[in-house]
Amino acid sequence: MPWEIDSREHYPRASDAVARAIDILSDLVGFDTTSANSNLALMRYVEALLAARGVTAELLLDDTGQKANLFATVGPSRPEGVILSGHTDVVPVAEQNWSSDPFVLTQRDTRLYGRGTADMKAFIACSLAALDFAKLDALQRPIHLAFSYDEEVGCLGAPRLIERIADTIALPAVAIVGEPSLMRIIGSHKSVNIYKVTVTGVPAHSSAAHLGLSANALAIQLMNVLLQIAGKLTAKEAHNADFQPPFSTLTVGLMKGGTAANILAAEASFVFDLRSLPEHDPDEILRPFHAEMEALRVAYPLATITFEPQAAVPPLARVLESKAETLVRRVGGDNSDMIAGSFGAEAGQFQQAGFSTVICGPGSIDQAHQADEFIEISEIEKCMIFMDRLFTSLTAQAEAA
Ligand SMILES: [Zn+2]
Repeated sequence: MPWEIDSREHYPRASDAVARAIDILSDLVGFDTTSANSNLALMRYVEALLAARGVTAELLLDDTGQKANLFATVGPSRPEGVILSGHTDVVPVAEQNWSSDPFVLTQRDTRLYGRGTADMKAFIACSLAALDFAKLDALQRPIHLAFSYDEEVGCLGAPRLIERIADTIALPAVAIVGEPSLMRIIGSHKSVNIYKVTVTGVPAHSSAAHLGLSANALAIQLMNVLLQIAGKLTAKEAHNADFQPPFSTLTVGLMKGGTAANILAAEASFVFDLRSLPEHDPDEILRPFHAEMEALRVAYPLATITFEPQAAVPPLARVLESKAETLVRRVGGDNSDMIAGSFGAEAGQFQQAGFSTVICGPGSIDQAHQADEFIEISEIEKCMIFMDRLFTSLTAQAEAA
């Protein structure tokens, strides 16, 4: 039973493994990979680390050539491998009050502070540090590293990466998405859909309102329908107690319209965010909204109303005793009930592509996106023990056991 091996036995210098992970984390935090920036410097760093371990990485550039996904396989090209998935981008620090430089990893007591420490560079650091300590030659099944860009702006980078992985590796494979879960197993999350609606009207002086058509007025009618939908989503019969809150949510996060108090607005726009329970279909939820847009287009032929999806992250639907859950339980030792994530993540995209998927990673989502984001060093220790057991579980010794 290799997964019962104490980490200190397998890593004779267990503290070295944790120290190595922290060193790598320090380097990763030093790259300002806020989603608006290029992540190439970080990816080149990871590529070099892998090359030093004899692992060839593939960088998959986006259309601008400024961002990349990274994909690498460690071990033999065989089915039943494990994908370790992490996003390299982080949310902005603008207008946040930090006690230390967010891009310099800073230890205070038992915590390591820095942007991305919890969400989710620590998981990437642990995945990479494990390569320095695991017996890579003994792997009978592969570890696939899948690091993406633009997760924080709607999981935009992962689809290409996942498509490439699905085309390249021997299937089936399990995916572990290392979003911060305090190393507990998250088996489901809501879908996330973001839409922008733009309305144009006919500008006129407000004293001659009969000569114009206010884009604001139409936008308000549309947003009113969204509020009605949002209200209905909270109905008890639609609840799913796995989630907090236990219902789908719809909120208007941004709105703009008009140029002056005495001019009928020529243009108005708003952006809304729909987070649906896995069993809910976003298109179905929005049916009354689409009907209202159509009715307004007919009633006001001089107006235009455009509807643009800006992000669509599929849900992670709970699958009991899935391959991924079984593996992570065995390796990680978490026997508590599988929990639901309150956030959208790339896990739904991996599941949609056919991979058995769970979320499990170090650190707490409570610290994600906050000023003074941190991770407890004990979380890195837990994750390195997890990595140790995971790599060991893929060796011949484990398969014979
Ligand atoms: Zn994240």
